[in-house]
Amino acid sequence: MDLSERVAIVTGGGRGIGRAIAIKLAEVGATVVVNDVGDSKPADEVAEEISKMGRQSMVALADVSQSTEVTSLVDNTVEKYGKVDILVNNAGITRDQLIMRMSDDDWDKVLGINLKGVFLCSKAVLRPMMKQRWGRIISISSIVGLIGNAGQANYASAKAGIIGLTRTIAKEVASRGITANAIAPGFIDTAMTQQLPEERRQELINQIPLGSLGTPRDIAEVVAFLASEEARYITGQVITVDGGISLGKL
Ligand code: NAP
Repeated sequence: MDLSERVAIVTGGGRGIGRAIAIKLAEVGATVVVNDVGDSKPADEVAEEISKMGRQSMVALADVSQSTEVTSLVDNTVEKYGKVDILVNNAGITRDQLIMRMSDDDWDKVLGINLKGVFLCSKAVLRPMMKQRWGRIISISSIVGLIGNAGQANYASAKAGIIGLTRTIAKEVASRGITANAIAPGFIDTAMTQQLPEERRQELINQIPLGSLGTPRDIAEVVAFLASEEARYITGQVITVDGGISLGKL
């Protein structure tokens, strides 16, 4: 795998899965724009780590749910590096609550970042990608978008929406050399799952055939492959990376 001629944007790249993706893409040669929102420190650290590897990197703060901020993110990338080849839609949040108690605001916030954010970022990179007739859009969905999860009506809807959006983008731009795929992680050891009570975490681990939570690196490896030339014939797909949990019980 060699991404040394490629420029990638990773949304939510300051920590967790996004951080591992940014570092993996740099390891295989890519120039990486690390997007994050709010405090720039975590993203600065990722960019610094990438620079130490001898690769190019810059931090671009932007809220992916805000159209004007996304436009600047992509414009600044193209201005600095001349193009954008790879978009990884990774930024995401949770606001869990049973549907009976879920506020409109918690619904809107999660759909705004986790689904509209993917729409805005994908739309913004399509013009430069179509011009160069090459592009990779990789979006982080979730197994919850495939099988549902009590307490996550907003999150599961957004993650299912990503799958429909990915398949639609794949059909709309295949003729321009652009692929769009999604990854559906199971339970990965990050701040997001560290919020779960210890008892619930243990319960989940007991249901995973491979016997442990996944690591951010497990997801990053698949992203790097989908971004590569080797994955040229894969589009509109959802790759599940979940230790087997979505297989269900006998
Ligand atoms: P995380 O540790 O909470 O990291 C999320 C990152 O997204 C943070 O860097 C965060 O920035 C950033 N972010 C949040 N809102 C943003 C916005 N509006 N604009 C730009 N960046 C924003 O989460 P994670 O566990 O790594 O999850 C990454 C992705 O994988 C998410 O889409 C998540 O839904 C998905 N996923 C995770 C799991 C899991 O088990 N962990 C499973 C399936 C899918 P701040 O630090 O500033 O908040």
